[in-house]
Amino acid sequence: MLNVPSQSFPAPRSQQRVASGGRSKVPLKQGRSLMDWIRLTKSGKDLTGLKGRLIEVTEEELKKHNKKDDCWICIRGFVYNVSPYMEYHPGGEDELMRAAGSDGTELFDQVHRWVNYESMLKECLVGRMAIKPAVLKVRVVESVGKIEIVLQKKENTSWDFLGHPLKNHNSLIPRKDTGLYYRKCQLISKEDVTHDTRLFCLMLPPSTHLQVPIGQHVYLKLPITGTEIVKPYTPVSGSLLSEFKEPVLPNNKYIYFLIKIYPTGLFTPELDRLQIGDFVSVSSPEGNFKISKFQELEDLFLLAAGTGFTPMVKILNYALTDIPSLRKVKLMFFNKTEDDIIWRSQLEKLAFKDKRLDVEFVLSAPISEWNGKQGHISPALLSEFLKRNLDKSKVLVCICGPVPFTEQGVRLLHDLNFSKNEIHSFTA
Ligand code: FAD
Ligand code: NAP
Repeated sequence: MLNVPSQSFPAPRSQQRVASGGRSKVPLKQGRSLMDWIRLTKSGKDLTGLKGRLIEVTEEELKKHNKKDDCWICIRGFVYNVSPYMEYHPGGEDELMRAAGSDGTELFDQVHRWVNYESMLKECLVGRMAIKPAVLKVRVVESVGKIEIVLQKKENTSWDFLGHPLKNHNSLIPRKDTGLYYRKCQLISKEDVTHDTRLFCLMLPPSTHLQVPIGQHVYLKLPITGTEIVKPYTPVSGSLLSEFKEPVLPNNKYIYFLIKIYPTGLFTPELDRLQIGDFVSVSSPEGNFKISKFQELEDLFLLAAGTGFTPMVKILNYALTDIPSLRKVKLMFFNKTEDDIIWRSQLEKLAFKDKRLDVEFVLSAPISEWNGKQGHISPALLSEFLKRNLDKSKVLVCICGPVPFTEQGVRLLHDLNFSKNEIHSFTA
């Protein structure tokens, strides 16, 4: 629920569609984009039906509001009337209704704990959950240096026995950190990489340490017309040719992003408008890529389309520097035209420098003079490209790009007998 990243999506071939294996999105009606929602929240319309009053909500009261046209949901102790948001929710109304009239925190955290619901739903805030009266008293007994906890019996009777301890009563349960932590980073430089993609360099706040593991992404957050908008981005190294150092040294205070600007997008034009010295919030990292996948690896295949190249940057650097068993890395990079290829000359230089690396560019809309590969991801292209070094060599194929590209690629990889363990697909 409260699924934000690709507000007015999905258009039939929109690149922002989310994988069917992950959370799915439903087509939104005309006029129900994230921008439309922001406009509605700024219109002054009473979205809670309480004329701006905040109330204390009891569990009994919350349960009553469980219909589409009267739907309250509690997230981290705050109750929201999400009925006005129903048609704007990219995950669909049914997804939102799963938490109707109840505490949706767990469900929310499972699906997308990074979504800035406080900002998105501030006009829908009904109030706080009423706190149940405490049934225990806590007293500090200074004379003996102890804390005394007094529990009131429900009934004033003698107990015959104290019951049995609960399972695991004596163990420590690691706390699952829920909300994402954001730090404000300063824009240090912005450099054109292609006609629409830029390398952004952000500086972390003083004394901050942020290590984004290989294959993971962070969320960038910016206020857009008064609402905080969050989108995921994959940090890269400043260049493909620089020496690779992992883990990040404590004095490493910069974080780099390759970001394509979509002129009609919501977030990237705003990001592009930032001036050197301006700030953008960067979250802690997320993602499920495990570096252990590289252990004893011999053949690494990377399939990237457009900015789907971003996770491959650190993977490439790491693979060529830190996997002693590695024999071959092959990158197949899909783009529309030559002008869209990110870091083409760096890739060519790297392949020249390190003979273990092969790079193949595939263009979907090349000029007639292009004598490289052309078309889209296909069985023919993949079966020719994905040749193992040896019959039983340890192989990993990483794939990232527009969701339909990635989904199709994974299907083709299965058809080519690559096992689940040999494939890592990057999706949100
Ligand atoms: P959006 O508003 O999402 O729009 C994108 C494009 O789709 C625009 O052209 C817009 O006009 C079009 N569009 C929007 N709605 C519709 C519609 N209804 N019908 C037709 N077209 C529509 N991107 C990077 O550049 N670099 C990265 O490192 C990167 N890392 C990512 C990591 C992850 C895990 C994921 C999931 C995505 C990543 N992305 C990355 C993509 C990024 O998160 C954003 O989706 C992207 O920047 C677009 O955001 P936007 O708000 O500017 O555009
Ligand atoms: P793009 O320029 O639109 O497309 C790049 C190439 O992929 C083009 O050749 C394009 O062909 C092809 N392509 C597009 N859709 C396809 C499909 N359905 N099937 C086969 N080929 C397809 O790409 P982009 O705008 O840079 O978008 C990159 C995508 O990667 C975004 O959706 C972004 O969210 C995603 N991404 C994900 C992660 C992650 O999950 N970790 C990280 C970074 C980026 P056409 O010319 O025919 O369009």
